[in-house]
Amino acid sequence: MILIAGIEGFICENCVNQAQFILEEELGKLDKNQPEISLKGITPKEIKSFLDQYVIGQDDAKKVLSVAVYNHYKRLNQKSEDDVEIEKSNILMVGPTGTGKTLLAKTIARFLKVPFTIVDATVFTEAGYVGEDVESILARLLQASNYDVKSAERGIVYIDEIDKIARKSDNPSITRDVSGEGVQQSLLKMLEGTDVQVPPQGGRKHPEQKMITINTKDILFVCGGAFDGIDKIISRRTERQIIGYKNQETHPAANASEDNILQFVTPQDIKHYGLIPELVGRLPVLTYLDPLDKDILRAILTEPRNALVKQYKKLMEYENIKLILDDEALDFIVEKAIEFKLGARGLRSICEAIMMDAMFEIPSQKNKKTLHITRKYAEGKMSKSKLKKLRAA
Ligand code: ADP
Repeated sequence: MILIAGIEGFICENCVNQAQFILEEELGKLDKNQPEISLKGITPKEIKSFLDQYVIGQDDAKKVLSVAVYNHYKRLNQKSEDDVEIEKSNILMVGPTGTGKTLLAKTIARFLKVPFTIVDATVFTEAGYVGEDVESILARLLQASNYDVKSAERGIVYIDEIDKIARKSDNPSITRDVSGEGVQQSLLKMLEGTDVQVPPQGGRKHPEQKMITINTKDILFVCGGAFDGIDKIISRRTERQIIGYKNQETHPAANASEDNILQFVTPQDIKHYGLIPELVGRLPVLTYLDPLDKDILRAILTEPRNALVKQYKKLMEYENIKLILDDEALDFIVEKAIEFKLGARGLRSICEAIMMDAMFEIPSQKNKKTLHITRKYAEGKMSKSKLKKLRAA
């Protein structure tokens, strides 16, 4: 029974509110196993179909993520007296830039309604060197959760460009690897689960700054990277294995020349690339992304719930203008995106370049009812745009 101390006699509305707060807090404490994220009725298939609404293609990655997330939150709801302890399923995604790694992680967080933050691994250095401490990851998560520690402790962190902190020991010009292996070392404990002292405002730890303790045991870490050149590591390995096979055709990678070789990525390849074995071990769920071809880029323009074309149509709708984008104009946008080699990220800049003049003029044009973008119109705007200088190498 919970007894709430109060002044004798009547009870006013403020005290009722206060009492409710105390009760909620107490009950929360008493029932530690009460799930915060209810998985009732949610299945991995449902998680995947939610992802399908926002992310085009990448079926394998979506499937793997859905299961990993499902298991992660099952683990959070696990009763402490269970004898089989489910291990944490941090995730590593390997795939070219602009193919949806961040979007997948962000969409998962949206589905679960948990705090989410994106950090770039390249900003970190070993403690004591110029750069950020890895603890600042948690400061950002804390900010994303409005300084609600409990909710931050169930959040999702996306660490981008994890491949950029690969060990550089092969490079003789680097004597001290402060932003590579040192950072990997400092990430280890955080990924596994530990109490971390976090400076609430981020940045460096100052002795005079008040720290907040965050336990990372239930935080899901999703790491992503392009791992440029890993295809060679994979194909060298698979070729060796194929030679060992009696019947070459039986090895799945034997016929993979046209497929995405990344689908055969193993933890061993990641280690070979330069992530230390301990870190690879703490990222047990490994998946890959496909490069985006023409059809997928085209679908990304129009199909997701908040597809770019839908967004521009909405913006124009607010001006009482009907936006018509010809199929040929969309084809042109896709062709340019492929030319710029920026994945889907290029689509937005190209659309902006094409739409900019119209978006500037239209709000002051009172009688206009439609905006019709033809391929010719798009080509004209692109040829004047500074974007054409932005071609990726
Ligand atoms: P990555 O993290 O792999 O470099 P992002 O997830 O940041 O790429 O993608 C960049 C942008 O491109 C996203 O904001 C999104 O709008 C779009 N995008 C990329 N891949 C996809 C996809 N598969 N489906 C839908 N949109 C995508």
